[in-house]
This record gives sequence, C-alpha cells and structure tokens, in this order.
Amino acid sequence: MEERGKINPYEMAKRQVDIAAKYLNLESGFVEKMKNTKRELIVHFPVKMDDGSVKIFTGYRVQHDVSRGPAKGGIRYHPDVDLDEVRALAMWMTWKSAVVNIPFGGAKGGVQCNPKEMSLKEIENLTRRFTWEISNMLGPEQDIPAPDVYTNPQVMAWIMDTYSILKGYSVPGVVTGKPIELGGSLGRFEATGRGVVITSLEALKYLKKSAEGVTVTIQGCGNVGGIAARHFDRLGAKVIAISDSKGGIYNGKGLEVKKVLDCKSQYQCIVCDKINETEITNQELLELDCDILVPAALENQITEKNAPRIKAKIIVEGANGPTTPEADEILNDKGIFIVPDILANAGGVTVSYFEWVQNLQELIWSEEEVLDRLTRIMQRSFKEVLEISLSKKIPMRTAALVLGIGRVAEATRLRGIYP
Ligand code: NAD
Repeated sequence: MEERGKINPYEMAKRQVDIAAKYLNLESGFVEKMKNTKRELIVHFPVKMDDGSVKIFTGYRVQHDVSRGPAKGGIRYHPDVDLDEVRALAMWMTWKSAVVNIPFGGAKGGVQCNPKEMSLKEIENLTRRFTWEISNMLGPEQDIPAPDVYTNPQVMAWIMDTYSILKGYSVPGVVTGKPIELGGSLGRFEATGRGVVITSLEALKYLKKSAEGVTVTIQGCGNVGGIAARHFDRLGAKVIAISDSKGGIYNGKGLEVKKVLDCKSQYQCIVCDKINETEITNQELLELDCDILVPAALENQITEKNAPRIKAKIIVEGANGPTTPEADEILNDKGIFIVPDILANAGGVTVSYFEWVQNLQELIWSEEEVLDRLTRIMQRSFKEVLEISLSKKIPMRTAALVLGIGRVAEATRLRGIYP
C-alpha cells in the first residue's frame, strides 16, 4: 500500500484475476499462469541530450500472454513508469483483446522519463535507442507496440523507422497508431475516445436514458479524454468539466468543448486565462454530480478514499486501472453502473488490429468502414459482457474479466502446456 487508498497496479490486476477465477472453475495452475507475465525485459540505455551530455534512461517491455495471438500493447513515457505498472498494463491488454475477441495477446512498454522536459530531438533519440534495445521482442508476428500516455503517432513513426532499418526493409506492421502516410489506419487516432462514447451510449440505452443533455465529466484531456469530449459534445451531451495534469475547469451549463480542445492543442493548457471557466482540482472533478464520469488519465484515481463521495451515475473507464478494487466495492454498493476499462477503452486495440490487418494485407480501408466495424465490435462486446453480468448477477467489471480470462484460459487449454 502506497499513498492512502492507492495500490500497486500489478497487485490490483492479480486480485482481479482471483475475483474472476471464482466464476470460471479454473485449476490453480492456470490461475497462476494468468497472474504471471510471460516475458519481461528491463533496459538501461544512454541517450544523447541537446547540451551534449549523455543521460541513462530505464525502459521496460513486458509480454503477459500470447495464447491467442501476438503480444499487443502501448508504450508509455512518464516519470512514474515502473515494472509493476507495465506488468499490470500488459495483463489488462491480454484481457482487453480477448473481451473484444481479436487475435492478440497482451503486452506493454514504458520508459521512465519526463517528455515535457525534453526536446523533440531528445524524445526521438530516446525512442530510437529504446526501440533498438527491445527490438528482439518486437515484430508484426511477435509484439506490436502502439501509443499510450505521452507517446503519439510521431513516436510510432520513429519506432517503425528504427525497426525497419534493423531489418533492411519497411515493416509497417511492427507498430500501430502510426501516421496515415506510413500505413496508419484511418480512424485509429480517434478510436479509443470513440469506443468510450459507443460504450457510454450502450450503457445509457440499457439504463433507458437518451444521450441528449446528459452531463459528462472527463478527467484527462489527451487522446482518450479529448476525443471522447468532442464526440459527447457532437451527440448533444453536456461536458460540464474536463481536466489535465495541471487541474480542471467546470461550467454547469456545459463547456465550449471545441474552444477548450483548440486551446489544449495550440497552447497545451486548459486552466488558463484564454478559457474563462471556473477552476477545479482533479479531485473535485471526480466528485462532481453528473450522469457520466470518464476517468481518462492514469491508474489509482478512484480509491476507497474518494469513492464514497462519487456522485456520477455511470462511470466509463477511458483510462486503464483508474479504480481500485476497494473503491469498486463501494461504487457497486452505491449502484453506480461501471463500464470497466478492458471493455470501455478497447476501441484503441480494436482499430490497432484493423491497422495491423491492413498492413499485412497491404489494404487501405475507408474511415467509414473502420468506424462501422469498430461500432459493431464495441456494441457486441458490451452486449456479451452485460449478458454475463445479468445472468451471473455480478458487476460489469467481473463479467468482463470472466469473458476475457475465460477466452484466454480456453485458448491455453486447447494449445496445451508444452511439452
Ligand atoms: P495522453 O498522453 O494523450 O493524455 C493523458 C492525459 O492525462 C493528458 O491530458 C494529461 O494532462 C492527463 N494527465 C496526466 N496526469 C494526470 C493527472 N495526474 N491527473 C489528471 N490528468 C492527468 O494519453 P492517452 O492515450 O489519452 O491515455 C490516457 C489513458 O487511457 C491511459 O490510462 C491509457 O493507458 C489509456 N488508454 C489509451 C489508449 C490509446 O489508444 N491512447 C487506449 C486504451 C487505453
């Protein structure tokens, strides 16, 4: 246990497996296999900085499970990245790919660094050297990275280029979330945020509410949170609060979402004199009275400490692991409907899968085709999780874990344990 209420994400992920295993009749050896990662690489590597100095960085790549297909998962650049966080994120990728039933296993990577204090050239140097260091694990048939917190299509382009130089020919299928010009898929940049909105609409439908006029609060204003905000706004929902790492803004009548997002992309700020709205803290945002709360930043945001004060009626987890198991129990007792991370934010890996398929087959799908396929997969997965939740009388998170872990366990059983 670290800061009060916050827990080690890997411990959290392992506890979730124990909770779901009760409904799956799994042998204890299988449960242990699910709780352990398959392969872990830690690298300490030098990077040339702009002032001529050389700095050593630590990076990780973890593959959790590859029973259902190649390992798949993003790369995060953040000062708090550590092995246990990457292990947890890799495990959640395995369950997520299985929940939406795409043929991938789970992986994750990260470098402990603060990209906000680095120049573009330093980030490029770091990316290229990190890619080289972990290149033995990567490949379109082996392990395929994608963007995560503080990485973006440009970082993916550098990974693809470095890996291709090592191979001697272009390998677009080694990463997803690339720029369109390099074989990126139309719709990938927006996919996770859109998936959050699609599953929110399904939750509203189930609870017999319309999207028009529902109030939404969003923690995080990056790829996931920002794009979810834009689509909620287009659907006629009222985004009443949004935040980034520096804090949040609130307007009970609804924020001018376009203006806020333009300010964020142009000046990297939302709490500023260009946006004249009431300032709130990230904690206050989480506790606002609203219909839908979307945590879309980092892990460990809703804990036993603040869960009793959460007033949202629906929580749709754009971020990975934003809610601790203790908080989960409190929210379930309060009757809050939760769309868990491994379902709600699976739009990203789903369109990453489409990107990979297009790269391998040298095809280019239209944005309409991508969005149509994404919508159908997200709606079908929501329905499958909801059915398990209703039939077994278990929360949506446990139901999603039962579906995902069940599929991985079945794949493992069919393949058998070698030798
Ligand atoms: P991003 O880097 O684009 O944005 C992160 C946002 O979180 C930024 O607005 C940042 O200011 C904010 N933030 C950082 N620290 C914060 C804090 N302490 N409090 C409040 N806000 C804070 O990252 P992203 O890709 O949007 O990822 C956000 C979450 O969604 C992560 O948990 C990530 O693992 C998850 N996720 C992302 C994808 C994807 O396709 N990008 C897919 C699935 C899940």
